[in-house]
Amino acid sequence: MAPHDDRSDVAEEAMVAEAEKRPIATIVIIIAMQTEALPLVNRFQLTEDLDSVFPRGVPWVRYHGIYKDLHISIIWPGKDLVLGVDNVGTVSASFVTYASIQALQPDLVINAGTAGGFKAKGACVGDVVLATDVAFHDRRIPIPFLLQVFDQYGIGLRKACSAPNLLKELNLKIGALSTGDSLDMSPHDESSILANGATVKDMEGAAVAYVADLLKVPVIFIKAVTDIVDGEKPTAEEFLQNLAAVTAALDQSVTKVVDFINGKCISEL
Ligand code: SAH
Repeated sequence: MAPHDDRSDVAEEAMVAEAEKRPIATIVIIIAMQTEALPLVNRFQLTEDLDSVFPRGVPWVRYHGIYKDLHISIIWPGKDLVLGVDNVGTVSASFVTYASIQALQPDLVINAGTAGGFKAKGACVGDVVLATDVAFHDRRIPIPFLLQVFDQYGIGLRKACSAPNLLKELNLKIGALSTGDSLDMSPHDESSILANGATVKDMEGAAVAYVADLLKVPVIFIKAVTDIVDGEKPTAEEFLQNLAAVTAALDQSVTKVVDFINGKCISEL
């Protein structure tokens, strides 16, 4: 392992502080499902990148273009090459986040999508939540004699880029986001989600947060509630029933966020 070098930490912090004062020029929006992505692709008049920045043969799709003063790329992990369904979940989300940051060097990453909401935390169908804290709920590593460090590693808590002015301007709800690779919720997941204090639950956020943190790119999470997890209706049914209407709400909120970001630097968000 390379020795820890305090000087490189200081240099890196200086670079990050400097970047926070430059106007945001390039943003990457990671979206897991085609239904969620296409309204925004149309709204920003983006076109599909045919000369892909990604490795040959992967299903990942990049739509890009200029909107106002911003270079926008919407990245959708595409469909499973065998089964033909959207590549939802943490594995694809991590890959596309890594590959797009490497290729495009964005000033900001936005992870937008649908999520399950908890009515006990005040969430309703159609709400759009800006997540402040993001963590995993299905990575349990209980090894007590290691002082719970593996437990904490599994939870993988990360903070979203703080955006107090954005919050004030857009009047969105805020809350914690908990991520796991299942649409349903096992009793084990439920107790971890409670411990994470989550208002919303998705299948990508904490993975995007992990990679963005690793590569030192600020990230924000915009999650629109399609289903109430602690309600009466079965999740999959409620999700499909509300997907179209909630995607419209997501589209509107992401557009407002992007309009707000335009011309600002990270420290002004
Ligand atoms: N049957 C759906 C499955 C999509 S998976 C279909 O293929 O059309 C659900 C997607 O929406 C994931 O990207 C996830 O991030 C989000 N999502 C919405 N509600 C969720 C919930 N209650 N729990 C976890 N993820 C949820």
